[in-house]
Amino acid sequence: MNSSNLDRWLAGRMGRDTVPSRRELRDWQLRRLREMVDHAKLGSPFYARHLADFCGADLDTLEAFSRLPEIGPEQLRSDPDALLSVSRDDIERVVTLSSSGTTGEPKRIFHTADDLEATTDFFGWGMSNMVGPGETALVLLPGARPGGVGRLLDEALSRHGSRAVSHGEMSDADAAVDQCLAEKAVCVVGSPAHVNLFAHAWTARGLPRDVIRSVLLCWDVIPDAVCSNVAERLGCGVFRHWGMIETGLGGAVECAPGSGMHLRETDVFVEIVDPETGRLLPDGEFGDMVVSTPLKKGMPLIRYRTGDVGRILPRDCDCGSPLRRLDPLVRRRRGGVASVSGVFSLWELNEVMYGVPGVADFAARLNNGTLHLVVCGDASFQAVSDALGTLPAVAGGLAAGTLRVDIENKHGVAPAVSGLDKRRIEIGS
Ligand SMILES: [Zn+2]
Repeated sequence: MNSSNLDRWLAGRMGRDTVPSRRELRDWQLRRLREMVDHAKLGSPFYARHLADFCGADLDTLEAFSRLPEIGPEQLRSDPDALLSVSRDDIERVVTLSSSGTTGEPKRIFHTADDLEATTDFFGWGMSNMVGPGETALVLLPGARPGGVGRLLDEALSRHGSRAVSHGEMSDADAAVDQCLAEKAVCVVGSPAHVNLFAHAWTARGLPRDVIRSVLLCWDVIPDAVCSNVAERLGCGVFRHWGMIETGLGGAVECAPGSGMHLRETDVFVEIVDPETGRLLPDGEFGDMVVSTPLKKGMPLIRYRTGDVGRILPRDCDCGSPLRRLDPLVRRRRGGVASVSGVFSLWELNEVMYGVPGVADFAARLNNGTLHLVVCGDASFQAVSDALGTLPAVAGGLAAGTLRVDIENKHGVAPAVSGLDKRRIEIGS
């Protein structure tokens, strides 16, 4: 399979018969962004104030758009209704986001029926590279209820002649493997931690490598070590996806394993900016991701600082798509999740821990100078210790006597901590 599916989606979403050039796509985006600004100012008291000095007609380039003021999660927490740009009657679904263990009010996101339809359409075309007509995907995500992820995926796949079976949030990897076999699924969709557990359970039972053909990792940051583990244990192609509930879930997806994630450019306009100055950065440089949702009518986000750190890959994809690609190495900055001040980052710990042979899952807590680790799987204590020692901050802390490490090995393939939005590091209270 190749990217022609994503390009067909793109042409359809733009109302064209042919795939646009990159220039045509840029011009189309600018027109939609200008319309979004005018629509939001008309419908939302917040945007009317926030963008009082601007109107769509003033924005003659994408660079001009990038000079509009940003918004952040605080707007979604303090008064999300103020961002509503249509009548409440037009809202199909409200998603309340808890804040992943950090302090502060939850965020509320409003979706219209059109917003949900657009997400479903993108899911269907994006996944048609992974699961074909007559085939089944097992979905290890919550949301079997109407409007939930599981339900949207089911609808999306059915439009392309395939089927999604919702397992729900995984708490027992063996049960998920049983269901996968019973349903004859050839594709598995889930968070990196859960699919990693699934892959460990698969090999622990001696199941063959040619049953699962593809995996889609989504919902959370994706350690490279998990991609390699899953590909090796299941013998399948691993596709990666980036998205946020704020932007209507679907954000970017790989056209082939390892390709880089093609952005859903019609619906999610991404800018990469300098974290300090907010200045637009060129392709290839890492910075803070700022997103806008030009086609979202209910609750458009205009230059929303996501808290994710990423970059646009500088070269064209081999598939030739005009859709820009996001480096799969997206990290989370906001909410104290991505860094434990001055010690080591969550991203580094994820890479090191998931890279240890036999680590199916782990959870970590740093408290009063002790790093408590709960490890699941059949990794040896020595292998975990050796891997941790490769983190300079850990090795230095141990040598200086300022850090202790406490490892609990639970064996088996149960999640170390339940909950998809779990924080893998807690800083001691
Ligand atoms: Zn591609």
